[in-house]
Amino acid sequence: MKFKMIEPPKNGKPITIANNRLKVPSNPIIPVIEGDGIGRDIMKATRRVVDAAVEKSYAGRKEIVWFDIYAGEAALERYGEVLPKDTFNAIKQFIIALKGPLTTPVGGGYRSLNVTLRQVLQLYACVRPVRYFQGVPSPVKHPEKMNVIIFRENTEDVYAGIEWARGTKDAKKIIDFLNKSMKVKVRSDSGVGIKPISVTGTQRLVRKAIRYALENNRPSVTLVHKGNIMKYTEGAFRDWGYKLAAKEFSTQTVSEDELWSKYKGEIPEGRILIKDRIADSMFQQILTRTDEYDVVATPNLNGDYLSDACAAQVGGLGMAPGANMADFVALFEATHGTAPKYADKDMVNPGSLILSAVMMLNYLGWKEAAKSIEDSMEKTILNKTVTYDLHRQMEGATKVSTSQFATHIIENL
Ligand code: NAP
Repeated sequence: MKFKMIEPPKNGKPITIANNRLKVPSNPIIPVIEGDGIGRDIMKATRRVVDAAVEKSYAGRKEIVWFDIYAGEAALERYGEVLPKDTFNAIKQFIIALKGPLTTPVGGGYRSLNVTLRQVLQLYACVRPVRYFQGVPSPVKHPEKMNVIIFRENTEDVYAGIEWARGTKDAKKIIDFLNKSMKVKVRSDSGVGIKPISVTGTQRLVRKAIRYALENNRPSVTLVHKGNIMKYTEGAFRDWGYKLAAKEFSTQTVSEDELWSKYKGEIPEGRILIKDRIADSMFQQILTRTDEYDVVATPNLNGDYLSDACAAQVGGLGMAPGANMADFVALFEATHGTAPKYADKDMVNPGSLILSAVMMLNYLGWKEAAKSIEDSMEKTILNKTVTYDLHRQMEGATKVSTSQFATHIIENL
């Protein structure tokens, strides 16, 4: 592929897909979008930590070859546009990329770059692992019981952006249609939004969640929905999820119904449990029976709320990693924004981006490097050498800068 203003590094090789699997060379080229605001600080720190962990784990046998690509303010400076074609093409060609946060102007300017990237690259699953790191201040008694990975559908539901403002011609048209042709009652002074949930959108998400559970020896997948009220969207999500499990993973899964009707409550060896929970009950259970949940698959809106609620339980968003994924293409990114007031101050917590890079290393299959960073970050926090955000909640801690925090993680590897 030809690029207009960027040149892929010569000392690396592209990741490819063969036999429906990623084929990762020992020196993969990974495109990287530094991001706006604090992105500049946290990306520098993250790259240092990842490079050090890879070097330490594989002694020169493996190396990530970073490839700088541009979006947001940096792209505007170089290309005169915020999301150039080069950037999409690089992610498509090299398959796996790492991204810092990007500014979204409020009430005008340009559309959210994050949303555009997700839509153009069809990144249909937002994947958010949430686990506890020893030493992080938490509002609950047993934060260590949390270890879930949430697969949130990224393209449908009330987030599809199909809505009409109250009083507009289009809103009137749709309300007239609903009241006259569909014989329902919608007040004339309503704004209207549409909630599409499809078999396609549901099944590709649930398939990804089940595959993840199988490949990573996780014991269960929970379908979280509000199907008691929204039967044909959320209820259908649950039904299509169970159907997919029964059809494509019949020898590797067991549903909660079968568990009792066929197996006396004992999960058969080598299988994972597929269960479902109604969303409101799930919000209670994730607090009261936290360790019964593992991999979660859920529509867009539930997933948005549940990811942040779970993150809060283990100490907040500062340490929450994430990825937006298609079948193979994956963009790993911090879950927080650009925090402009802290930009270039070498002050904020790089934990979220570093842990997103850990997810990336796991996705590459470089599990030793991934585990070493997680362990080392935990040790650094237990040693109470932390950035300002954790420092203000921890007694007797030493406050360090973004770059110093990275240095401590590297020393503790
Ligand atoms: P934000 O950038 O996430 O910052 C909100 C607050 O969260 C900060 O003021 C800070 O709190 C805390 N925070 C965020 N990141 C932190 C870190 N790494 N370490 C420590 N504390 C951190 O949210 P925002 O101010 O609403 O959004 C700013 C811009 O980012 C907007 O343009 C928004 O659209 C964009 N955004 C981008 C993404 C993305 O690229 N994925 C996601 C969300 C928002 P304290 O002030 O209390 O210390």
